Amino acid sequence: YNVLLIGSGGREHAIAWKLNQSPNLGTLYIAPGNPGTAELGMNVNLNSNDFASVVDFCKDHSIDLVAVGPEAPLVNGIVDYLEKEGVPVFGPTKAAALLEGSKQFAKEFMVKYEVPTADYAVFSSDEFDDALKFVQSKESYPIVLKADGLAAGKGVFICDSEEEVIKRLDTLKNDKNLQDAASKLVVEEFMEGEEASVFVIADGHTSHILHNAQDHKRIGEGDTGLNTGGMGAYSPAPVLTDEILDKVKNEIIERTITGMQLEEAAYHGILYIGLMITESGPKVVEYNCRFGDPECQVILPPLENDLLTLMIATTEQRLDEISIQLDGDYRCGVVLASDGYPGSYPKGKEITGIESIDDDAIVFQAGTKLDSDSLVTNGGRVLSVVGKGNTLDKAISHAYKNVEKIHFEGCYFRKDIGHKGLKRIS
Ligand code: ATP
Repeated sequence: YNVLLIGSGGREHAIAWKLNQSPNLGTLYIAPGNPGTAELGMNVNLNSNDFASVVDFCKDHSIDLVAVGPEAPLVNGIVDYLEKEGVPVFGPTKAAALLEGSKQFAKEFMVKYEVPTADYAVFSSDEFDDALKFVQSKESYPIVLKADGLAAGKGVFICDSEEEVIKRLDTLKNDKNLQDAASKLVVEEFMEGEEASVFVIADGHTSHILHNAQDHKRIGEGDTGLNTGGMGAYSPAPVLTDEILDKVKNEIIERTITGMQLEEAAYHGILYIGLMITESGPKVVEYNCRFGDPECQVILPPLENDLLTLMIATTEQRLDEISIQLDGDYRCGVVLASDGYPGSYPKGKEITGIESIDDDAIVFQAGTKLDSDSLVTNGGRVLSVVGKGNTLDKAISHAYKNVEKIHFEGCYFRKDIGHKGLKRIS
């Protein structure tokens, strides 16, 4: 099978790494990829927003399967377009990707199919005064304001006071980067608890849990400071006990997959379910229509199934023939970032030491590029280092032991990835 993988981050390096282990893989192309994926396949310069040129590439290169890493092309309908042109593709259709693409759709869907989630109300952009009145009538803080559409994590505000709500409503209305996403506003009850994510693979009818993880979104230790794309993750998350996972299966996954069938938007591909484990059980914070980054880097290494086989079985609706096998070890992934991220940061700093990491540790590249023959930094999140062990403690030590071997000027990383899980175990 010749495969075209779309994306360029650490998530796509991990997907490419896993696909590369398949005996059924022909040529792997990655568009646009990064220096890490270039070692596993052929990076190609293809604009994934130009669906017609993706189809042309697939026809010219006898592509048997397209796998899409990031959410934007999925939400914009790349799957529908490719399918219409007869190109097999792994991922949800535009209608199914609305679970991530519109928070209003996701909330209405959850209420309709009785999927546990926070109470909410929706307001259009000319009803922000009503939104404020609604918040004032509740008088319960914190309260959560969310732009309806995609905003790369920047459209969600947790407000502790009326003043903050007023300030954030103004941001949502006037910030040029948020205006499109905030044409509608979701106001949501704040859920108290610990977060974790569950990754599901679904072929429209059958679904399996691939694995679960917990990520670390804040820049600072102890979950402090600004939000980032994710500073690290570990897997599995001890907060997800068997009892909670049973509830997640019965009350969340099954209702979601059945609900999407009933909506005539059967879900194919990876469904990432962001959960809050509250006192009254697991509730959905968000759905994403693809793997998470950095979670992907810690959930694919323990997966014993052939990822290409899983993807093909999904496109052929044969997931019922497959059971998911994991190696049983923990993984801890630490993101190495450029100093200053998530604000501005320098680029072009030489990266050394990758070749000296242990055989059973993995480096997944993200914001890197080749400058002549040197690997240099080229983004905020530069790479992640994944360690493993038969306990979480050992996985964490293994990751940090290997982090120490990698160097670039201004390298920043959190030193407490996985510690929340350790605390829970103890
Ligand atoms: P991303 O794609 O970056 O995860 P997003 O824009 O899709 O973000 P959400 O996942 O809905 O937004 O929210 C971002 C974060 O805000 C969550 O991971 C969670 O920490 C917090 N959050 C969102 N909604 C709630 C809620 N109702 N109660 C408590 N915390 C919440």
